[in-house]
Amino acid sequence: MSGSKILVTGGAGFIGSHLCRRLVADGHDVLCADSLFTGTKDNIADLMGNKNFEFLRHDIVTPLCVEVDQIYNLACPASPIHYQFNPVHTTKTSVNGTINMLGLARRTKARILQASTSEVYGDPEIHPQPESYWGRVNPVGPRACYDEGKRCAETLFFDYHRQHKLQIKVVRIFNTYGPNMHPNDGRVVSNFIVQALQGQDLTIYGDGSQTRSFQYVDDLVAGLLAMMASPAEFTGPVNIGNPDEFTMKQLAEKVLTLIPESKSKLVYRPLPQDDPKQRQPDIRLAKEKLNWAPKIKLEEGLRKTVDYFRRTLK
Ligand code: NAD
Ligand code: UDP
Repeated sequence: MSGSKILVTGGAGFIGSHLCRRLVADGHDVLCADSLFTGTKDNIADLMGNKNFEFLRHDIVTPLCVEVDQIYNLACPASPIHYQFNPVHTTKTSVNGTINMLGLARRTKARILQASTSEVYGDPEIHPQPESYWGRVNPVGPRACYDEGKRCAETLFFDYHRQHKLQIKVVRIFNTYGPNMHPNDGRVVSNFIVQALQGQDLTIYGDGSQTRSFQYVDDLVAGLLAMMASPAEFTGPVNIGNPDEFTMKQLAEKVLTLIPESKSKLVYRPLPQDDPKQRQPDIRLAKEKLNWAPKIKLEEGLRKTVDYFRRTLK
């Protein structure tokens, strides 16, 4: 259905900016609410003059009163250095902020989608991770403000659904990368590319044998749209990610082959506390319910991301 009024919280961030662009292109009227804590106006500069796009500087920890048909709740810093910068505010964003957005959805009868995360599985004992796995999260560690905040946000979604009959959609996003990532946000893909382009050594944490499964942002956006459009009875949670799994050492080597002029080497740094050892989504549910599967291979996505950083790095 084109022409819907859609609120995207966190719309000036990495994923949010791609989602806003796609929703505007599909003919929707998009309101992007963002505190600009990690997002930037640069990410949405091309949308600013569009009559179907509006930007509002707003922190979702404060209630928001607008009229909307759909809400994508993406607001929350996603990289460990940013979510650990003000951990109390990170928890408030996922708990108080989510209550505010659910309250808005209740009043407006909007369908609401939560950008949850593979971090709800913590450092998993089951591999790959299906949605039925309850996870292994340290509730008092440095990642807990993010992991437990997101777990509580899921709880709130399901309680609003059971108690107030809200139409909810919960998506567990696995590691995503692409253009518009913040060059200094510390996530591994942007770190390695920026380091390689700037001639710095690539910092591998630990021995580089830990794994992640990386999805290109366009695949994720397709998954978010498919989930929002799915029948009301399918609430999720549903994993959206690319199951192709790589060690961090393999990722570093791949990045170096894509930037052949780079003289960077690999250097090893201590592994951060509670860093998950492995992560790979089980995407059978997304395939079955949403007819969705990722299309973009790591090498192709990395090329596009390298091109972006070549253009934008100063
Ligand atoms: P990002 O940091 O680029 O974007 C987050 C956006 O939210 C930023 O624009 C930031 O300014 C905004 N924001 C933060 N706190 C806010 C608040 N209290 N009120 C209003 N705006 C606020 O991160 P991203 O990678 O684009 O992540 C978007 C969402 O997807 C997040 O909820 C994140 O938890 C989730 N997610 C991302 C990944 C990933 O790999 N990128 C993986 C799992 C889940
Ligand atoms: N990592 C790394 N070097 C870096 C940044 C991260 O080796 O410069 C590692 C990190 O320890 C983790 C993996 O890469 O094992 C993914 O880190 P990221 O912060 O991107 O995502 P998350 O840990 O939240 O999945």
